[in-house]
Amino acid sequence: MSDKPDKFIDDDGLRLDGRRFDEIRPMKIEIGVLSRADGSCYLEWGKNKILAAVYGPRTLHPRRKQIPDAALIRYRYNMASFSVEERVRPGPSRRSVEISKVSAEAFEPVVLTKYYPNTVIDVFTEVLQADAGTRTAAINAASIALADAGIPMQGLVSACAVGKVDGKLVLDLNKEEDNFGDADLPVAMTQDGEVTLLQMDGNLTPDELKESLEMLKKGCTEIFEIQKKALYTKFGKDPVLDVDDIDDEDDEGLAQIQVELDDSEGEDVELDEDYLDVDEELEEAVEVIEVEEDPDKKGISNLSDEKEDDSDEQ
Ligand code: ADP
Repeated sequence: MSDKPDKFIDDDGLRLDGRRFDEIRPMKIEIGVLSRADGSCYLEWGKNKILAAVYGPRTLHPRRKQIPDAALIRYRYNMASFSVEERVRPGPSRRSVEISKVSAEAFEPVVLTKYYPNTVIDVFTEVLQADAGTRTAAINAASIALADAGIPMQGLVSACAVGKVDGKLVLDLNKEEDNFGDADLPVAMTQDGEVTLLQMDGNLTPDELKESLEMLKKGCTEIFEIQKKALYTKFGKDPVLDVDDIDDEDDEGLAQIQVELDDSEGEDVELDEDYLDVDEELEEAVEVIEVEEDPDKKGISNLSDEKEDDSDEQ
């Protein structure tokens, strides 16, 4: 590990990597990079390199783990052993288990799990190169991979961290700021500003916490715009519809949520139309995943048709 720098912010207000206190690192997103996954994303954020893959929804085994009225989101955060200077021991660690757990929870408020009872949505995130902020980078990548898989969501999740160096709050910590700073506050939120993950290392005063959350809102909004643009570029469609604007009466062109999954007895599990009729809220959700008329344009939403051909293996 490098030594602690004497100063993190120079006289011009610039950080060690030349950024201002409230600037995020450049982010690059590539969608659909893995052909066997239902959805995938490769994301670079500064020197972080992350691969995310989504599989499902598919029937959850063993059955005793099934949730009768919802899908389980199973999230794995893993650091490749070559992702940092010193080799990381392969396999789960205390840190990766903790990050996996809180990251799954970061998606629970937005993924419409209740429409896929007894199933699992698997999210795998692999850190190929780490340079601080990997849990937030992985969440940003997972959000896109879920959208690419056509998993219905109320919106995207965007994540970023704030920290404190030289007594000043800084957005999106670099490696030195993360290693030697006085605080690290990773947060994930929806585009509406609903916080879905908040962790903190170190110390912040109540005023600093308040200011940090404002900075994080700005950072996450910028990330959301990058995510949205990447999805728009790929699919030619704004991935996030405003649920409040949806007209309940108009059900033309709706996707039928029919997910055929192999269960243990080899029977297909099918969510039929009667199921779709039971709940007004469900109609809204179905609107959210409206299928594009142009088959070449795949959206966040093109859930059903493609599932039939997909193998469900990783
Ligand atoms: P995050 O990556 O979400 O900021 P941490 O604050 O725990 O998570 O880690 C900060 C950085 O420290 C990581 O991004 C990575 O560069 C480095 N790091 C984390 N775990 C290890 C490890 N086991 N070995 C070497 N470096 C690590």
